[in-house]
Amino acid sequence: MAAKIRRPIVAGNWKMNGNLSLVKTMQDALAQSQLDNMDTVVCPPFTLLSGFDTQQIKLGAQNLSVYPNGAHTGEISAAMLQDVGCQYVILGHSERRAEQFESNELVADKVKVALTAGLQPIVCVGEPLEVRQSGKVFDYVAAQLDAVTQVISQQDLLEVVVAYEPIWAIGTGNTATPEQVQEVHAFIRNHLGKSCQEAAAKIRILYGGSVNAANAAQIFAQPDVDGGLIGGASLKVEDFLAICQAA
Ligand code: PGA
Repeated sequence: MAAKIRRPIVAGNWKMNGNLSLVKTMQDALAQSQLDNMDTVVCPPFTLLSGFDTQQIKLGAQNLSVYPNGAHTGEISAAMLQDVGCQYVILGHSERRAEQFESNELVADKVKVALTAGLQPIVCVGEPLEVRQSGKVFDYVAAQLDAVTQVISQQDLLEVVVAYEPIWAIGTGNTATPEQVQEVHAFIRNHLGKSCQEAAAKIRILYGGSVNAANAAQIFAQPDVDGGLIGGASLKVEDFLAICQAA
């Protein structure tokens, strides 16, 4: 594949899966793989974060609290994530938007908290099937992005990673076609360019939704795709490595 202008990134979103034994096998496999020209990020559940050696692997969390500390039972702060070596945090995943009722505004507040602390947010956007069928994908995604750009500075926008994850493609095996992916990625890049021209060129936009070892290369070859956010396939060491190699 032609060299990418932006440094590729592949992040594994373990969701509520994995255990200490998977930490060890993933750690060993990634340490031996020579994936030098890209960022490989593992985002396990909170309880497994400290099991990784962050000299060798970039770590991400799957959520954070908007609060800095204090009486918020069950919450995890940005500082706690940094304490165990996290550099990234996935925010606004569609499963949290749906199951934990996270609004565009709450997601935007969390993005701001992450950036202020020095964590790089991987901000998930993407439409449900009805929205795609009604032809309103761009409006839907624009509203998700606008909530974020309204509360952060242009400089901070350069630190954001966006993940386009159409909800109908997540965990379903119905990967979006490379053309569908490229169309929305180009829209996202152009739309963010209205807030910050530099961001349009520099921001990394990942695709997520049923990426696997067989389809990754074709998706990653699209000009506005800078890597992937991988769910199910990130739990299988060989598949995850193959996907990283495809970036
Ligand atoms: P999937 O999940 O790869 O299992 O479709 C992607 C995600 O939800 O981040």
